[in-house]
Amino acid sequence: MNDHNIKSKQSLTKQLCVVAEKEKAWLEKNRLLYTQKRERLDNLVKERGLNSSEVTVEERKLSEHVTIYESRQAGMWDLVFKINREEKNLAAMKARRKKKKEPSTETKIVKVSDELGYDLEPTASKQSKRSSKPKLASDSIVDMWRDRNDFDVASARSKQALAKRGLAGQLNTFSRCPYCEQKLSFERAHVDHIHPVSKGGLSEDDNLVLVCAPCNTAKSNKTLRAFCRDVDLNYEVVVARLEMIGKAV
Ligand SMILES: [Zn+2]
Repeated sequence: MNDHNIKSKQSLTKQLCVVAEKEKAWLEKNRLLYTQKRERLDNLVKERGLNSSEVTVEERKLSEHVTIYESRQAGMWDLVFKINREEKNLAAMKARRKKKKEPSTETKIVKVSDELGYDLEPTASKQSKRSSKPKLASDSIVDMWRDRNDFDVASARSKQALAKRGLAGQLNTFSRCPYCEQKLSFERAHVDHIHPVSKGGLSEDDNLVLVCAPCNTAKSNKTLRAFCRDVDLNYEVVVARLEMIGKAV
């Protein structure tokens, strides 16, 4: 590797960082609005599910906005992985030029992304297992990963994903939402605490159940009895179904 290659890599990485900073600013500026729209959209979808009504103009618009935000957010992850890869390549080039090996430690981003449960691209994942451990050049990019909100959201998501995987067997016994009996796919299922967390319910398998999104939203932090009453479900029938799939009610 010659100095010219190293310089052009440095310049590419720098440009990527500039783009990433702009994206980060946009995502932060719109985060609150996005959260509100997401919530409103989830409620509309829930209401529509319960009333079997048509998709409204409002729902379609919200869905468009939410999709834009989520795809830019996903793009941001891709970008950060790319920067990480470029920085590792750059460090490797410098190391080869110096004919000196760097100490073996994971780069911060790869490590953090592993912790958050994000899948790395195969190349990045291979690189993360290799022994050369360059340091990150850009503090600003590392800062993005320190964002508390991102950490909290990601950690809550990965916990929920884990709980959900543990419940997959439920659909072999009964392939419908145990509350409303709508057909339920694992991908679209939500995890509900039968006895709500806010009332002391535990996150244990016999208190966790896969349900459809509208039921999960409608139940929220209600007790099973209150939920059944409010959405006009037969409590005894629901309890019997829950017991059939091995839940304690
Ligand atoms: Zn349901």
